[in-house]
Amino acid sequence: MLEELEHGYPLLEELNDFAHDLLWTWEPRIEAAFRVLDPERWEATRQNPVLLLSQLGEEGVAKAMERTDARAALDDARAAYRQYYDRNPAFMNAKAPMVIGYFSLEFGLAECLPIYSGGLGVLAGDHLKATSDLGLPLVAVGLLYKQGFGRQEIDEGGRQVEVYSEHRGIDLPIRKVEGVEVEAPIGDRKVKIAVWRAQVGRVPLFLLDTDVEANPPDLRAITDRLYVPEPDRRLRQEIVLGIGGVRALHALGMVAGVYHLNEGHSFLCAIERIRELRASRRMTLEEARLVARAGIVFTTHTPIAAGSDYFEPGLVWDLLGPYLKEVGISFDRFMDLGRQRPGDPRERLCTTYAALRLADQAVGVSRLHGTVSKRLWKDAWRGLPEVQVPIGSVTNGVHMPTWMAPEIRDLLRRYVGPDWWDLDGTDGRWEAVFEIPAAELWSMHMDLKRRLLEVARKRSEHTADLDASALTIGFGRRFAPYKRANLLLQDSPRLTKMLRSAKHPVQFLFAGKAHPADQPGKDIAADVVAFARLQPRVVFLKDYDIELAGHLVRGTDVWLNNPRRFLEASGTSGMKAGANGVLNVSILDGWWDEGYRPELGWAIPSGATLDRPEVDDQAEAENLYRLLERDVVPAYFERDENGIPQRWVEMMRASIRHIATEFSARRMVIDYFNTAYAPGARRVEQLRLLPDWGG
Ligand SMILES: *Cc1c(COP(=O)(O)O)cnc(C)c1O
Repeated sequence: MLEELEHGYPLLEELNDFAHDLLWTWEPRIEAAFRVLDPERWEATRQNPVLLLSQLGEEGVAKAMERTDARAALDDARAAYRQYYDRNPAFMNAKAPMVIGYFSLEFGLAECLPIYSGGLGVLAGDHLKATSDLGLPLVAVGLLYKQGFGRQEIDEGGRQVEVYSEHRGIDLPIRKVEGVEVEAPIGDRKVKIAVWRAQVGRVPLFLLDTDVEANPPDLRAITDRLYVPEPDRRLRQEIVLGIGGVRALHALGMVAGVYHLNEGHSFLCAIERIRELRASRRMTLEEARLVARAGIVFTTHTPIAAGSDYFEPGLVWDLLGPYLKEVGISFDRFMDLGRQRPGDPRERLCTTYAALRLADQAVGVSRLHGTVSKRLWKDAWRGLPEVQVPIGSVTNGVHMPTWMAPEIRDLLRRYVGPDWWDLDGTDGRWEAVFEIPAAELWSMHMDLKRRLLEVARKRSEHTADLDASALTIGFGRRFAPYKRANLLLQDSPRLTKMLRSAKHPVQFLFAGKAHPADQPGKDIAADVVAFARLQPRVVFLKDYDIELAGHLVRGTDVWLNNPRRFLEASGTSGMKAGANGVLNVSILDGWWDEGYRPELGWAIPSGATLDRPEVDDQAEAENLYRLLERDVVPAYFERDENGIPQRWVEMMRASIRHIATEFSARRMVIDYFNTAYAPGARRVEQLRLLPDWGG
């Protein structure tokens, strides 16, 4: 009891407050305070502090606190928390005149918050974390799904099966916002939306939930699951996110000036802004469209037209007809916003065309993807030459404090400085990375690798024979066919020779899920599993998620990425690996096309035809084997008298130095601020038409 009242505040409540600020996902000192309470339960709850605390209860927590290690961990957590919020970050209140609203259908923040499926969501999560670090005024909006994306199991035949489980909001690190209920139109009905709040450091994330008793069953089910394949259910979700999201911000008293649409899913946010402006300012449709547009920033993530959502005119009419009347836009005009050829009544509405025509700023997610996007979507600006198509790029980045191993963070703290994560890449202090002694960096890397191999033995779907001294190559990403997880299996005798080498042994760790509706992707997963079951030096780790990704990008030696060129818009896992000193071997696609330098990794030469995939697959597989055999494997096994690969370690240093700065989410958010948010805010301000923001 004495302990409990030490701070005049019950311990359980204090820990619950820590649990509800996702700062613990990138501040290991706070996470440690949960883990130490009951390490087994921590893993059993999938590292969910809210569930852990509710299972332990007041008594369990008090009992754990009798141990000195738990008390020390709590003191450490308190110090970390205070340090984070006492700092005045670079952008705090200073440079941004108005709030930015960030809309996304998924956010990957922690394994225990199942509202993401993969790269797009993790990117959005990293965006919020870096924004919090920088102190930019941003609020985010997404959906709360009752069921996660589905865990991956592998059946006896080696095929992927998805297992869904249900979550209750009260078990997640989020809190319900009481007294706020919003409505959005579904045809001539209205769906009621409850709002939950997740706290991502300084940044609030509002999650919309239609599982409200007052809704009929079909409307309650809208937010059941992420990425439903049926267009009807998908459009309902996009109505809730876009229209409901803008209304939720209003109901919460948060008027955003700039709206950032992460993918086209939230394009209806722009239409709702038009409706609002017309209603409150009596504007004509054209006036409202121009004013709304000034503040809209759109990021496209897909490098192929089929990656976008498409909706049939009949479906749009059924779900949005009455709403469009209220907005005062004709149905044809609305459909034309999303058509490649406006005026063609049979054409469906494509969310990417619609978002491009509604936004003032549009960007792709790497330099190369910006160029690809110009070609792909040029018809949104009929008559403009391709080079003038106004789609730019902001290259993605990853949140370094989240993705770097605590051990690497510690090295950077000691060599670069305690505020390493807040330094620009041009800061001379970064050069101290090259002073980290090889023996220190190498032994730390080997520790991380051994930890990964332990996890791999547990998560492996079959018996694995893993050896910490073998060159360990990782491949972890969604099993979409263009990512070619099976490229390496093209010549299995040649691969087997590499695996069985006594002198220079190599092993591979594969992980990844196929989208539940992606049959070819599932076939590729089955190929890899079948091969792995025969070959103990190739391991398939099931259920790729944020936690497993963390182990892989920290503990492998090499990170492999071999997509068909021009189809990987960015590919952020390679950035996570590179920042941990894991060397990239990749096709020059996405971020690697601009990140590659010979001193920090390798480029797999591309095939030449670009339009005969089978021929290019063959050539690129050959190029990959040759690169591994001639360059990568020999470099790894070139050791000095102490067994340290000096040349390799020098590449690790260069990789950390450049990738941790140039491909950080910090750099990405600052780029967004300079090229899109600030100019957007200025334009909106010039129009002076927003209802009283900031007085
Ligand atoms: C980083 C990440 C991704 C994205 O990786 P790509 O390289 O873009 O394929 C997907 N899933 C998880 C869990 C991640 O952490």
